[in-house]
Amino acid sequence: MEFNKILNSLSNYEAGKPIELVVREYGVDACNVIKIASNENPYGCSPKVVEAIKNEASKASLYPDDSMYELKEALAKKYSVLSQNIIIGSGSDQIIEFSLFAKANPSNKILMAKTTFAMYEIYGKRTGTTVLKTASHEHNIKEFSDIYKSNKDIAVIFLCLPNNPLGECLDKDEVFDFLKEVSKDTLVVIDGAYQEFAGFKDENKKINPKEIIETFPNAIYLGTFSKAYGLGGMRVGYGVGDKEIIKVLHKLRSPFNITTLSLKAAIEAIKDEEFVQKSVINNFEEMVKYEDFAKKLDIEFIPSYTNFITYKVKKESSLICEELMKKGIIIRDLKSYGLNAVRITIGTKEQNSRLFKELKDIY
Ligand SMILES: *Cc1c(COP(=O)(O)O)cnc(C)c1O
Repeated sequence: MEFNKILNSLSNYEAGKPIELVVREYGVDACNVIKIASNENPYGCSPKVVEAIKNEASKASLYPDDSMYELKEALAKKYSVLSQNIIIGSGSDQIIEFSLFAKANPSNKILMAKTTFAMYEIYGKRTGTTVLKTASHEHNIKEFSDIYKSNKDIAVIFLCLPNNPLGECLDKDEVFDFLKEVSKDTLVVIDGAYQEFAGFKDENKKINPKEIIETFPNAIYLGTFSKAYGLGGMRVGYGVGDKEIIKVLHKLRSPFNITTLSLKAAIEAIKDEEFVQKSVINNFEEMVKYEDFAKKLDIEFIPSYTNFITYKVKKESSLICEELMKKGIIIRDLKSYGLNAVRITIGTKEQNSRLFKELKDIY
């Protein structure tokens, strides 16, 4: 059968390995497997969310409120913007997809850092657009600016602040200076999936969505409930932007794009900021141990503004991941990004101790 030719240039997103796989393939007992590979919250989610999902369970037969009124109102309040500035997606992934569909096509280009969130490129290629990347793996704003100036047809720019899978983060001031140079016809996607972490660690990294949409109506800010809020399994993300952009993106949204239980979970999660705050504090307390561990073993690492850390290992990264998996520990190999590095999600104190012990043995 002939398929759309665009598909020939696409590869699948390589998701973190699931616990079930390690149980199946390595015969490790499920309760002994730890997954610190996909930047999920190791403390789970707010107990209030769990309670709310249980209470809502019988509503599984009903479609959710398609206007998502309550969640949008809560987000609007959180960010001091209007409901019309918000779109909800099945993960912020879906908003990335909508943004590209809205702007990119075979006659224009999109721009991103060399090593960044893989879905920008995957969704980008689906539109037939040309993908441009900076020479540096990490975000280098000078390179973004140079490439932008020498290419007249860049339709979408992605800034991942902080960046997954490397963990680095541009300063807000650098970002704003660059945005001033960008044409109002270029859509800038600011992916804030880890902003809760970056903003806590360093005020200079903090991006305020309200300020973005007031200053740069051509930019959209993306947030997610999957990381700091601990709702990866619920698939809820959002975009905050100028009403005009949001209105267009809504044309691409299928009805009921998140579930009744997901909607409820997100609404409850927003009410428990204390849970998020605690998770973020624990994260950076544990992160120090990862930095110390790396120094002791002479492993190069990238200072991180997220809930993970990237080790540039000397031994082959796939080998390390494989050995750890046999011990029931899942981390992320960055080989598919062309790097001999591993990305480890900062886990709980117990999970981290186990990782340190096993990794030390292997290393
Ligand atoms: C996790 C992540 C997302 C989105 O995740 P969803 O679960 O789809 O909301 C977006 N961008 C980056 C950089 C991420 O790491």
